Amino acid sequence: MRWDVIVVGAGAAGLLGAIRAAERGRRTLLLEKNRKPGAKILMSGGTRCNITHHTDARGIVAAYGHQGRFLHSSLAALSPADLVALFEAEGVATKVEETGKVFPESDRATDVLAALVRRLDRSGCELRLGEPLVGLSKTDDGFRLVTPTSEYDANAIIITTGGQSYPGCGTTGDAYRWLAELGHTIVPPRPALTPITTNSTWVTGLKGMTIADVILRVVVSDRALVSGGTKQKHKNKPLDQRRGSFLFTHFGLSGPVALDASRTITGHPEPTSLDLECDFLPTKSADEIEAELASEAASDGKKQLLGMLSRFVPRRLGEALLEQAGVNAELKAAELSKQLRRQIVEAIKRIRIPVSGTRGFKKAEVTAGGVSLREVDSRTMESKLVPNLFLAGEVLDLDGPIGGYNFQAAFSTAWLAGSNV
Ligand SMILES: Cc1cc2nc3c(=O)[nH]c(=O)nc-3n(C[C@H](O)[C@H](O)[C@H](O)COP(=O)(O)OP(=O)(O)OC[C@H]3O[C@@H](n4cnc5c(N)ncnc54)[C@H](O)[C@@H]3O)c2cc1C
Repeated sequence: MRWDVIVVGAGAAGLLGAIRAAERGRRTLLLEKNRKPGAKILMSGGTRCNITHHTDARGIVAAYGHQGRFLHSSLAALSPADLVALFEAEGVATKVEETGKVFPESDRATDVLAALVRRLDRSGCELRLGEPLVGLSKTDDGFRLVTPTSEYDANAIIITTGGQSYPGCGTTGDAYRWLAELGHTIVPPRPALTPITTNSTWVTGLKGMTIADVILRVVVSDRALVSGGTKQKHKNKPLDQRRGSFLFTHFGLSGPVALDASRTITGHPEPTSLDLECDFLPTKSADEIEAELASEAASDGKKQLLGMLSRFVPRRLGEALLEQAGVNAELKAAELSKQLRRQIVEAIKRIRIPVSGTRGFKKAEVTAGGVSLREVDSRTMESKLVPNLFLAGEVLDLDGPIGGYNFQAAFSTAWLAGSNV
């Protein structure tokens, strides 16, 4: 049976791309490897699904940095407001949280997926589950797609097979090989939005503690600078800097700023030459903290140092920082020399955590790398190399920060592909 359009992969991008193509009257088949569609939608946002971010198209473009320009046309086709309206029209009321993240009001990712599946059903698209694509080739008049049980012909295809993060979800980077065979450049895939690991026991000892406001800088460590002559001139320039909340874990660091910073680490040739420099009190300058410590010492010399610190950072973190700074936590305020005050401030504002690696693809929320954006027409999502081959979602070399940006990009690129196929 010949199809106008076959969409491969029923994740966020595949579902919406197929809906759009079928609603435009194209005879559309959606093939999915798993026995159920939308595995990542269900697990996203802690099973609450952070659909998008409360911003406009420009805000999404800006969050994607140099990749952002690629998204102009797709966001013009489906903006964050359009996406929210699409879900609301399907009965999924949404809410915006303090961080700007947009969630279903019900806090249930299942509602988001059910809405997409309902609209897919109405669109007339046929969904075949448990049918992994295992072979793809170009024919004279389209494409031949092979699954373990069938062969299909299509005039056009949309590849939405995602990346290779959380491989247990079915995303094992299958399409890269076929797309490379068709001539596409695959920017080497690497994990992004993945937790960061360290061997520092003071860090792992603080497991479970969340710090709401931290500045995290990825810097080349002094260990590497000693041996790496030419790197010396970049000594003070962070490779990445993020501000937000973070979480100590039994292996290192997680939470939004750690996840966002991880792409810099996985993209570095020597991740173990990097440190994370933490500012645990970004709202105060080093001079302000030092002055406050001095004035408190002057007004109450008997006060214990640890108690003084607890106005700045949680007590357990304060204890750990003092130990790392080599300052005795039992000291009384009056015993604090200027030198000791400086050591303490330095620990609060600039303590360094050596990086041992990341949790990799297994725990990465997205994949950086994928099909080179240079080979895809951003106005239509059609391959510039193979006519009638369309690409959308995470299979592309597109990865955004935490906050709903990744779903927005997947939905928008897919909508545009479905509009042009
Ligand atoms: C734990 C977790 C939490 C996340 N939370 C959020 C969040 O709250 N907000 C946000 O914006 N982003 C979040 N993300 C990222 C988001 O899930 C992805 O950016 C998004 O799912 C990408 O959509 P996609 O359709 O391109 O790929 P996917 O959703 O990965 O879908 C790809 C589909 O293709 C199928 N497939 C693969 N190979 C084949 C094949 N050979 N044949 C047939 N089918 C195939 C897969 O089974 C899968 O169903 C999260 C990711 C994870 C892992």
